[in-house]
Amino acid sequence: MNTNEINEIKGLLSSSKKIVIVTHKNPDGDAVGSSLGLYHYLTGLCNHKVTVITPNDYPDFLKWMPGQETIIKYDNNTKKAISKIEEADLIFTLDFNHLSRSGDMENTLKKVKTTFIMIDHHQQPDNYATHIYSDTGMSSTCQMIYHFIEKLNDLDRITPEIATCIYVGIMTDTGSFRFRSTTSTTHQVIANLINHGADNTSIHESIYDMNTLSRIQLQGVALNNLKVLSEYKTAFITLSQKELDQHHFKKGDTEGFVNLGLSIKDIKFALIFIENKGEGIIKISLRSKGDFSVNEFSRNHFEGGGHHNAAGGRSNLSLSDTVEKFISILPAYKNVLNQ
Ligand code: 5GP
Ligand code: MN
Repeated sequence: MNTNEINEIKGLLSSSKKIVIVTHKNPDGDAVGSSLGLYHYLTGLCNHKVTVITPNDYPDFLKWMPGQETIIKYDNNTKKAISKIEEADLIFTLDFNHLSRSGDMENTLKKVKTTFIMIDHHQQPDNYATHIYSDTGMSSTCQMIYHFIEKLNDLDRITPEIATCIYVGIMTDTGSFRFRSTTSTTHQVIANLINHGADNTSIHESIYDMNTLSRIQLQGVALNNLKVLSEYKTAFITLSQKELDQHHFKKGDTEGFVNLGLSIKDIKFALIFIENKGEGIIKISLRSKGDFSVNEFSRNHFEGGGHHNAAGGRSNLSLSDTVEKFISILPAYKNVLNQ
């Protein structure tokens, strides 16, 4: 995003607008954090009327975030969401870069002819937006929202609400500041957010210390199902719909389970296969360490994508057939995984 584009955006934001902010399906901490951070920033400017719309619901551990009660969920408030999108003068799409990632909202977004601004850190951006701020080296879309506000020369407008929301997404997308995308700049941004009122200890507790007993017990089932394929430096977990049901599964309960496999010594590639009978799919999360690209792996075999070391995908086969397919693909990657 060059100076001309920044000036154009400054121009757009200099008079009151109807602004819609949308994010990807199954929103995570970065999706909700970036949307709400930008929401608070824009609401404080020029009397803008700002609406955040998510394709569907997000996990309970995000339901304390400032402003989250204003979020419209497209799947259970479709009429209102469509009319907000159709009336918008400006639409921000955050934490995704292909309209198909917006779930059932895709058709509505494709139909409207308005100015789109994409802010995102995933690989291979599509070109549906008028202005694109894409940086695959960034830790999170939340960090990009901070830099976006910085480019607009507005860092002094960061309130405790904005700081809190942005902190959440940087923290969750970097695995609490440990993944490779965490740079010294990320830490400087975090320091400034704390200076602007983000209460770091209470944010960590609000996100990570909100487990239910049944969620911890589901984690026990996941660990019990974990399989290691040492010759491929790979570990994977399966969870069937029955196992989820037995543990009163709620959205977000399996968040982070895939990292359990990756925490085993010498493991380079970890996956979790989660049966979703409602959608008739197996949802797959893929993680890696080092050079092995799970983005490519998922694009090539499981209709997904994401980042180099963290991606998602899906399969329409049964749980056992999906695992069988996965195991049959692995030998082709034996050398790469053992490098
Ligand atoms: P998760 O495994 O947590 O669902 O997703 C890991 C990362 O990959 C996230 O950044 C997420 O946005 C991205 N991702 C998940 N599923 C898909 C998908 O189907 N397509 C693409 N392009 N990205 C995905
Ligand atoms: Mn993200």
